[in-house]
Amino acid sequence: MIYNAGSYEVIVIGAGHAGCEAALASARMGCKTLLCTLSMEHIALMPCNPSIGGPAKAQVVREIDALGGEMAINIDKSNIQMRIINTGKGPAVQALRAQADKLEYYREMLKTLLTQKKLDVLMAEIQDIETSDNKITGVITKTGARYKCRCVVITSGTYLKGRIIIGDVMYDGGPGNQFPAMKLSASLLKNGINLGRFKTGTPPRINRRTVDFSKMIEQPGDERALAFSFISPKQKKPQMSCWLTHSTPETHRIVMDNIERAPLFTGVIKGRGPRYCPSFEDKVVRFAHKDAHQLFVEPEGRHTEEMYVQGLNTSLPEDVQMEVLRSIPGLENVRIMRTGYAIEYDYVPPSQLKLSLETKMIQGLFTAGQINGTSGYEEAAAQGLIAGINAALKIQEKEPFILKRNEAYIGVLIDDLVNKEIDEPYRLLTSRAEYRLLLRQDNADIRLTRRGREIGLVDDTRWELFNRKMDSIENTRAVFQEVSFTPADEEMNVFLTGMGSAPIKDRVSLWELLKRPEIHVADFEKMKWIEPMDAEISEQIEVQSKYEGYIAKQLEQVKKFERMENRKLSPDLDYDEVYGLANEARQRLQDVKPTSMGQASRITGVNPADINVLYIYLEKKRRN
Ligand SMILES: Cc1cc2nc3c(=O)[nH]c(=O)nc-3n(C[C@H](O)[C@H](O)[C@H](O)COP(=O)(O)OP(=O)(O)OC[C@H]3O[C@@H](n4cnc5c(N)ncnc54)[C@H](O)[C@@H]3O)c2cc1C
Repeated sequence: MIYNAGSYEVIVIGAGHAGCEAALASARMGCKTLLCTLSMEHIALMPCNPSIGGPAKAQVVREIDALGGEMAINIDKSNIQMRIINTGKGPAVQALRAQADKLEYYREMLKTLLTQKKLDVLMAEIQDIETSDNKITGVITKTGARYKCRCVVITSGTYLKGRIIIGDVMYDGGPGNQFPAMKLSASLLKNGINLGRFKTGTPPRINRRTVDFSKMIEQPGDERALAFSFISPKQKKPQMSCWLTHSTPETHRIVMDNIERAPLFTGVIKGRGPRYCPSFEDKVVRFAHKDAHQLFVEPEGRHTEEMYVQGLNTSLPEDVQMEVLRSIPGLENVRIMRTGYAIEYDYVPPSQLKLSLETKMIQGLFTAGQINGTSGYEEAAAQGLIAGINAALKIQEKEPFILKRNEAYIGVLIDDLVNKEIDEPYRLLTSRAEYRLLLRQDNADIRLTRRGREIGLVDDTRWELFNRKMDSIENTRAVFQEVSFTPADEEMNVFLTGMGSAPIKDRVSLWELLKRPEIHVADFEKMKWIEPMDAEISEQIEVQSKYEGYIAKQLEQVKKFERMENRKLSPDLDYDEVYGLANEARQRLQDVKPTSMGQASRITGVNPADINVLYIYLEKKRRN
């Protein structure tokens, strides 16, 4: 029996990293929103690694923050360790990484959701989406409640027909032994949405009290007070260490002796897994010449003895997992607290989506997060935010919010998902971004706060802080460009020689001097040539000065590309009429129906020669 339980403007199915951002964005933009989850105790769950950030992902977390999302603020409240990685490399690849207290992360997110105006949270399994004339009209729960709505955002992660695999033990389940969602897939298929099947895996969790840390190398947190969010206070919490160990030839022997029991090799696992996060047995087989693989032992929180073994994702039988662990230095007497497993699940191949993350088939239906074939908390949260924003904009009858590849990693992520063929779980990498020097973690607020303000997600406090920071950067930059020295300034040349830097021969500004790799803002502060300033400001001044030439070059490339990219393509364009296109390109263009030349140029299977053919065709048509 189905009964009418109420109506909302936007309903979000799933309260993982994507769902939380989607629901908060929609409610904060003024839409009456319902967030549904299979379990109230597993909101914003981290079913795998207890960390947020790292290369490409840190940039995304900061972009989410600049747009008014929650992930950065939440990890700032709940981290147990923070550090910047790749400090020896350029600013484009430096990245903040935080170890999370998983339980605290959940508690803080729950608090934020429950206190958000216009947002209701409901524990219910959605089994059906309802449509009329290819438009969303509502959803139905397992217990027969019908909620009407105009937009639905599905963020069901790895739960759709989730199947857990541990050796020859297999059962239907969601991550962490939760219920799977077995019915929603059928509803999507009924509505014309195609589904694929992917797989991911997680390592066993071990008991801290059974680990011998004296055989491992300590990985402490950073000495500095750090934060992801541009508005969080920079506080240093008591830091908990991670530990580095490695597998041994004995570990690899155990894996190989049991390889015929590994579901990955017996044909039991059919879904494609993430290439950048392979299971341990896969690494042992593929890199047979290697004697050791790095493994990081990481705390799962302050109030638990559970530790995560990064690098040991596996679906080997439990007895083999135990043997493998005990062959690792420091883990000789270890006890397992949770067994590692693989999970297979249904996903929506994302070429069925528009850049707004709305499905092409059903108006008002959006999908975001792991359901779109991605892997990773940050990728999920970013998509959730964009889908939530676009659902709210649709309700407000406004244009969709789309970030370009030169504006944000989020733009790269969504553009890749929609246009490239995704045949394995997608993970963001710095190498995927062609303009990565522009898309740094340090300037995410400069790139995106204005955009967040325009759509109504950046509140007055954040806006004021941002404007103050921008003024400060501008004023400081002016000082650096105005203050200059001549060869007659002996103090300067003594200083430069002391720093191993060439003395000046002409008048030179501080701005120009800062371009030298061995010279830093802190040196000028020490010499009292400038007033001491916030670390955030000096970081901007330093990057902007040192990389001025490279940044200008990338901006020029962006402009060039935009001239072509912005050329619009009609959704009615019949690519069969375009003479000279390669068959594969024709097929892919018909499938994707790109909205611009830029989008067309990035579709897998569409080569520069095809773009040229298309360009000539359009020019001819225009002239006629
Ligand atoms: C075993 C495992 C290993 C992983 N390993 C890694 C890794 O090594 N590295 C990495 O970066 N990422 C990894 N991930 C991926 C990462 O956990 C996900 O990408 C991320 O959590 C996805 O976020 P999401 O919001 O899309 O979905 P999830 O966080 O999975 O959340 C889904 C939400 O949807 C709800 N839901 C589902 N169906 C319904 C329904 N019908 N009705 C109501 N609610 C529903 C659930 O209750 C849940 O709240 C792993 C995931 C798993 C499960």
